[in-house]
Order: sequence, then C-alpha cells, then structure tokens
Amino acid sequence: MEEGTTTLPTREEAVAAAEEAAATPDQAGGFTMDLTDEQKEIRDWVHGFAEKVVRPAAAEWDEREETPWPIIQEAAKIGLYGFEAIAQFWADPTGLTLPIVNEELFWGDAGIGMSIMGTTLAVAGIFASGTPEQMAEWVPQCYGTADDPKVGAFCVSEPDAGSDVSSLRTRAKYDEAKDEWVLNGQKAWATNGGIANVHVVVASVDPELGARGQAAFVIPPGTKGLEMGTKLKKHGLRASHTADVFLDDCRIPGSCLLGGKEKLDERLARAREGTRAKRQAAMQTFEVSRPTVGAQAIGIARAAYEYALDYAKERVQFGRPIIENQAIAFALADMKLEIDAARLLVWRASWMGRTGREFTSAEGSMSKLKAGEVAVWATERAIQILGGNGYTREYPVERMHRDAKIYTIFEGTSEIQRLVIARAISGVHIR
Ligand SMILES: Cc1cc2nc3c(=O)[nH]c(=O)nc-3n(C[C@H](O)[C@H](O)[C@H](O)COP(=O)(O)OP(=O)(O)OC[C@H]3O[C@@H](n4cnc5c(N)ncnc54)[C@H](O)[C@@H]3O)c2cc1C
Repeated sequence: MEEGTTTLPTREEAVAAAEEAAATPDQAGGFTMDLTDEQKEIRDWVHGFAEKVVRPAAAEWDEREETPWPIIQEAAKIGLYGFEAIAQFWADPTGLTLPIVNEELFWGDAGIGMSIMGTTLAVAGIFASGTPEQMAEWVPQCYGTADDPKVGAFCVSEPDAGSDVSSLRTRAKYDEAKDEWVLNGQKAWATNGGIANVHVVVASVDPELGARGQAAFVIPPGTKGLEMGTKLKKHGLRASHTADVFLDDCRIPGSCLLGGKEKLDERLARAREGTRAKRQAAMQTFEVSRPTVGAQAIGIARAAYEYALDYAKERVQFGRPIIENQAIAFALADMKLEIDAARLLVWRASWMGRTGREFTSAEGSMSKLKAGEVAVWATERAIQILGGNGYTREYPVERMHRDAKIYTIFEGTSEIQRLVIARAISGVHIR
C-alpha cells in the first residue's frame, strides 16, 4: 500500500462537519437509543478508513505477520491514532464512542486493528495508576507524533502467570541510594513487546503480599536491560506483534513508579496490616476496559456475518441462491441476533463505566464474554455458509475466524469471565 494516497477527512474535519449538521437533540434528560450526530460522524469516518485503507491491506499483513507501520502512519496522519484521538473518543459522556470506533476498525481487520489499538492497553495502564504528571509525560510518548508514530506495550502476563496474575515473578527492587528501581524477570505474550517506545510493566515489589504487593512501572524508551524475546507466530491477529520481553537488571528512575513511592508505601503498609483491599475498586477498573475489547470482537463477527449474507445471496446451488434454504437463512438470522445482543451488552457496560455506575453483576465481564464467544461462533458459521471457499485464504472469513479466537483468551479467558460473573452474582468465592 502506498503512503499518502487517501483523501479521507481528518478527525477534526469530520467532527466539525458533525457540529455543523442538524442540531443534536439534548439527550441529557431522557432515555434514547439514538446515537448523537457526532458519534455517527466519527463512526462513519472510522468506517471509511477501515473500508478504504485497512480492509484492502488485511490479507497482505496477515501473511507478512509484521506490524503494518504504513497503516499506523496513515491512521496517525488523519488523526485516528494518537493521544488526542483517544482523548476525544474517551471524552464522549455516553461512553459509546470508544466501542463504536473499535467495532468499525476491527470490522476492517482485527490484526491491523490491534496494531492501532494495542497501544491503548499501555495507556490504560498509565491512566489506572499514574499521577496527572506521569500521564502528561508518558501517554504522548506511547503514541509518538503524526510524522513518527510509536507504539506502547502493557506487560503483565508471564510464562507462569496468565490467568493467575497474583503469582507474578518479575521483581522490582528499590535502590534507595540512587533513587532507582531495578527490574528483573520475563514477560510473556506482550502486544508490541520489545518494539514499543514505552513499556508499562507490572512487577512484584513484595511477593509475600501476592497481587497486593504489585506495582506498575514505566520503562522509558531505550532503557538498557529490556530485551525482546521470541516474537511469536500466531493462529490469528498476525499483523499484531506479540513477543516475550526480558528484564535483566533493568534500571529506571524512581519517578517511573506509577502513582509514586509514597502511595505505594501506604498501600503496602495497609496490605501488611491485613486491611481488606477495596475489591470493588479493582473490579471497577477491569469492568471499564473489558467492553472495549468486546467491541473489537463484535467488529470481527459483523464483518463475517455481512460477508456471509452477501455470499448466500449470490451462491447458487440446486438452481437457487443458498439463502433461500431456511438452514442458511436462519443461521444468518441467528448471527445478526447474537451480534446485536452482544453489542447491547457492550454498550451498556461502556455507558456504565463512563458514567461511574457500579458494576453489580460484572457487566463488563459479561459483555466481553458474550462478544468473544459470539465472534468465534459467528465466524465459524460464516465459514460454513461459504463452504469450501470459506476454508481457503482466497476468502476473508477463515482469517476472521482465526482472529476471533483470541477474544476467548486474552484480557481474561472466558472461564475467568464466568468466574468473575459467578462471584459477583452469588457473593460466593467460587473457584
Ligand atoms: C495474542 C495475544 C496477545 C496478548 N497480549 C497481552 C498483553 O499485551 N499483555 C499481557 O500482559 N498479556 C497479553 N496476553 C496474555 C493473555 O492475557 C493470557 O494468555 C491470558 O490471560 C491467559 O493466560 P494463560 O495463557 O497463561 O492461560 P492459563 O491461565 O494457563 O489458562 C489455561 C486454561 O485454564 C483455564 N483456567 C485457568 N484458571 C482457571 C480457573 N481458576 N478456573 C477455570 N479455568 C481456569 C483458562 O481459562 C484457560 O482455558 C496476550 C496473549 C495473546 C495470545
């Protein structure tokens, strides 16, 4: 794909056009399922990028298994990739813009979509624990500039600590004399691991305290002691870089501890005294981020459904389009039904997160669980509807199916989501 060939509007132009459009109804007072004009404009703008830039390049980058830098640059150039973009999507008071953007982008292609959106994992990590000064310093560095975009990585998982994040072995020790932290350990499966400008790393500062003895650190660009391990060859999401990261006497300034030393010391003291952790606060953080991941899965599912619907109308067997058979038509009806149901769960949880509602039944986990499982199921159905063609790389649905599978694994597996929901609804510590 050549750079600089698109004539898409910038985000500012799209938003300005929305503001000029018919007056947006005041939605503050009453319930509505209508999107605002600004949400629709942003949706259509991202859809245009997904359709014209992302989708035509999807098969190529899936085969190459490389980060699609020219497309990230293109996204940065029009204002879709960067600090300002994510800030604007987040600013929407209804919370719907972020899932809408994710759905449209991943409708274009999930591997490329993750290359563009993977940085938000690191940004979310900084937002979750950082001070305002740390956010101002590090979030822009995660993205780089429009001319020289960068990516960020969020490294929590380890070879022996995936679902069980309380058992992290990566250690962070404080060198008081130098006011530096020294990190040692291995991180696994990190999106953008080793190629990121900024790595956000979660490490144990007091292993005896388990999850309560952990803290998040920013590893600045070019820090010695951080090395990329194996770059993983994957089943799907192949345009997105995934690698192990090694930390070998990795020294960082004391100021790179997110939230600061004073707060950490207070937190550790409370944990040592045995004061109960605010479980609700921790749960709230995860519940807020999960619907966005669910929206990505919905984008994949919708792309496969739409492709299968068009195909079923065109493909003729026994003298009639295959959609005239109820077996095919009902499958498509079910796909549409499940995708829309999953989207409603995602939008509800996003709205709850943005408006500060309490997640009483793990609604964020529900949305991610449902969306991930619908994506796997719907993409498999799409392959079935395309028959032999669906199984080949000449058609996109097999790639969509490979891409969809990760949504029942990362950001909490389906089993872990069920565990969270079951605990939330029962109050019982189910194992
Ligand atoms: C493409 C990709 C990108 C990723 N990106 C990142 C990233 O950017 N940063 C990051 O930190 N991590 C990342 N991960 C890691 C991902 O979050 C983990 O793989 C995931 O959390 C699952 O952990 P695990 O693989 O160790 O599986 P395990 O925890 O070993 O689980 C294996 C199986 O056991 C089940 N299981 C485990 N415990 C229980 C239980 N208590 N009850 C019932 N079932 C259980 C699981 O559901 C699963 O089916 C990524 C992974 C992939 C593949």
